[in-house]
Amino acid sequence: MKIEVHITESLCKACGYCIEACPKKVLELANYFNESGFHPACIIKKEECTGCGMCYQVCPEVAIEVTREK
Ligand code: SF4
Ligand code: SF4
Repeated sequence: MKIEVHITESLCKACGYCIEACPKKVLELANYFNESGFHPACIIKKEECTGCGMCYQVCPEVAIEVTREK
């Protein structure tokens, strides 16, 4: 199964909900700023991602997409 997590960094408001929700600690806030002046969420441990979709579900900005392909 191919799992992809895509974060639209320009939409991220750095609330950290996705980071708290991820059971595998895949996500973290980046050390750079997006165009709105927030540190966007980014993927630090892609290989740990199970594709559970929790990050997608909690993001209030709809900045995360999770796709699973067989
Ligand atoms: S899909 Fe699940 S495991 Fe993967 S980054 Fe999102 S919350 Fe974490
Ligand atoms: S939940 Fe959404 S807005 Fe909040 S840090 Fe994660 S990607 Fe950014």
